[in-house]
Amino acid sequence: MNKYEKFPLHLHNSLTKQKEKFEAINPPHLGLYVCGPTVYSDVHLGNCRTFVSFDFMFRYLMHLGYNVRYVRNITDVGHLLDDGEDRMAKKAKVEKLEPMEVAQKYANGFHKMMDILNTLPPSIEPQASGHIPEQIEMVQAILDNGYAYEKNGSVYFDTVKFAKETDQYGKLSGRVIDDLLSETRELKNQDEKNNPADFAIWMKADERHIMRWNSPWSEGFPGWHLECSAMSTKYLGKTFDIHGGGADLKFPHHENEIAQNHSACGSHPANYWVHTNMLLMNGKKMSKSDGNTITPQQLFSGESEHISKGYDPMTVRFFFLQAHYSSTLDLSDDALLAAEKGFKKLMNALPLAEKLVAVSENSNYDLTLSNQIIEKCDQCYIEMSNDFNTAKTLAVLFELAGKLNEIDNGQIKIQQLSTESIERLKSTFTSFVKDVLGLKPEEKGNDKMDEVMDILLNLRKDARANKNWALSDQIRDQLAAAGIVIKDGKEGSTYTF
Ligand code: AMP
Ligand code: ZN
Repeated sequence: MNKYEKFPLHLHNSLTKQKEKFEAINPPHLGLYVCGPTVYSDVHLGNCRTFVSFDFMFRYLMHLGYNVRYVRNITDVGHLLDDGEDRMAKKAKVEKLEPMEVAQKYANGFHKMMDILNTLPPSIEPQASGHIPEQIEMVQAILDNGYAYEKNGSVYFDTVKFAKETDQYGKLSGRVIDDLLSETRELKNQDEKNNPADFAIWMKADERHIMRWNSPWSEGFPGWHLECSAMSTKYLGKTFDIHGGGADLKFPHHENEIAQNHSACGSHPANYWVHTNMLLMNGKKMSKSDGNTITPQQLFSGESEHISKGYDPMTVRFFFLQAHYSSTLDLSDDALLAAEKGFKKLMNALPLAEKLVAVSENSNYDLTLSNQIIEKCDQCYIEMSNDFNTAKTLAVLFELAGKLNEIDNGQIKIQQLSTESIERLKSTFTSFVKDVLGLKPEEKGNDKMDEVMDILLNLRKDARANKNWALSDQIRDQLAAAGIVIKDGKEGSTYTF
């Protein structure tokens, strides 16, 4: 029996707003599409939380035995600012780069960060700018089916007609078309559109736009929502299994994606919609404008007024895992300190699991204790299959870590355990920690380097104790010049490269 049959997955489907038993269209194959980053600036921590969430979903689905095709796009065109300027093009002007250089620069940074956080690469990572013909084809199909109209070289989706004729608009986001119609917000090209709720699927480029392509309607570029419809259809088919993204994408992005797919292909794009919740800091939305923000790099180096020290990327990943993906998560120094302790405690048990060896032909084992361990191993699957509940999975893993420690300190003798229970304990603990949750032991630097740094930090500590500020500053400054940053915290000094 497949693991996914033994521990069937239940998912909260944002479309039906209910937890449902997951049924793949064509098991063991499974299509997963996740909206990727817009690569015009450095990836921020909120983005990291979302992509780590989809990473553990991807990992668990594979662990259950699904053959997952995970498509995560790169948005490098069509994502407009409120004033109608393309985000990429604007950044290109500011940084005096080609738009594609901007996209490459931030895509590289994004991949590096995903690597640092130990996320697996998707199966396919299509770029919007590499799929212009597919998007033009989809615009044409929507026009042919009567759900779009052309005005002055731009093509607009006829949201009102679609909503009235199909009864499909607003199901995901809960928006009511009549409310949208009464919105009087000033929008770009408002005068061109028949209704404020209509949206551009092809835009004629004005002279500011350097990213432009030929099309039957004008030299222009596709609307932002179109790329995900076109690329998910191309790589996963007209209807696939799961579509994901951050909760802020439900409207308008995903609602419009659904409308485009219905109009072009006559079908709903995904059977299940999964949305991850936002990352907050100190109880408030992270915001650059009021200083309530921290970059991943600052979080790792400790160079921020919001934290007392730098945190290992795996502590940050563990911190994300401690909450359910659909709850908001509040980042604070206290929460990170607690996560660091928890992460270390869990990882200390990993080598104990890895070195476990079952006693062969052991028939005098303790049945109750052995069954208890097997049940806890099953519980890890039950919790993860319950809408990817990483928080509860971690709680069960801590119980298993307790058993591993008892085996290690002799409170539980290996002879008390059945061969099956030992094998299950070993394989479940190691595979859940490493393969499913994607945690890996903290990277130890070069041991000799650590020793040298300890000597220098102790010398500096002595200098400070003797009020020899000149020497302590000299050590700090010369290390900084060599790219090693010393951070003084309550629990002593630490260093990062
Ligand atoms: P963007 O690059 O802005 O298109 O965002 C990439 C992904 O990150 C999207 O799925 C967003 O919904 C998600 N996202 C943006 N801000 C946050 C946040 N504060 N917390 C969690 N996810 C976020
Ligand atoms: Zn998308």
